[in-house]
Amino acid sequence: MKCLKCDCEKFKEKNVHFNPEVKGEEVKVAIPVWVCTACATPWVDSTAMNRLRRAAANRYRHERGLLTAEQIRMFREALGMSQATFARYLHIGEASIKRWETYYVQDAGQDEHIRLKCDAAYAEQNFLDICWKKQVPSEFSGNRWFSLQHFKNVALYLVSKTEESILILNKLHFFIDFLHCKRTGESLTGVRYIPLKYGPCPDQYKTLYDCLEKAGAIEEVKPNHYRAKSEPDLSLFDNEELETLEQFTKIYNKKGGDFLYNLSHKEKGFEETTECDYISYDYAKDLLL
Ligand SMILES: [Zn+2]
Repeated sequence: MKCLKCDCEKFKEKNVHFNPEVKGEEVKVAIPVWVCTACATPWVDSTAMNRLRRAAANRYRHERGLLTAEQIRMFREALGMSQATFARYLHIGEASIKRWETYYVQDAGQDEHIRLKCDAAYAEQNFLDICWKKQVPSEFSGNRWFSLQHFKNVALYLVSKTEESILILNKLHFFIDFLHCKRTGESLTGVRYIPLKYGPCPDQYKTLYDCLEKAGAIEEVKPNHYRAKSEPDLSLFDNEELETLEQFTKIYNKKGGDFLYNLSHKEKGFEETTECDYISYDYAKDLLL
């Protein structure tokens, strides 16, 4: 090995910064390469070149929220598939799979396709998202479209203000939505409620909370207890919605979670709705809260 610039034969390994281009955009990476001790010129052989291409591709993916080569390979291996089987499963050429698992960056559409076919939680959320989009406002949604953003920020609000378990949080969601409907004729989040053994609960509450956890909004600190990882974005709510939240918080601070838990079981909407049915927001007018 001889330096191309100064003929020196002494090299040492160093982390060197490069600014290669990926899809026409420059990315910054640092990779270990042999560097001439005399003039500091890096020795970029084919091994270093491969390392550079992979690092550049992964940096580009990371910055844009795309799956990395490693994540794609892990998805494939979790399904127990060879690259050839995986290619057939995705209806994509085997060469693409090989390249994605090294240094070729998939585009955003392909990235979503891989997730939908490999990540059950992602596919489930996508499924729910379609259902929500098709759920026309009705008495069961409190006369509005479901808003994941509203639900998320009510959840953040509750999780940051109380230390209740999901068992109680579900009831607090119920009271906020029904209280808002009683005041304004519309729910606050558009979520539907079902009467479970333990009281009224947001439909798909587990999936909803899983979504929030996956999105990094909350984390489960012990079974069924969460911690908010960011402040709720109250700018999302209009004045009437904020008033409902304030009004509810006053009641909660005075009466506590256990009281509201018990009260939720006495609510007419809960008592008169049969299992497997949604609780109509028409019962908001009968709210005992
Ligand atoms: Zn040199």
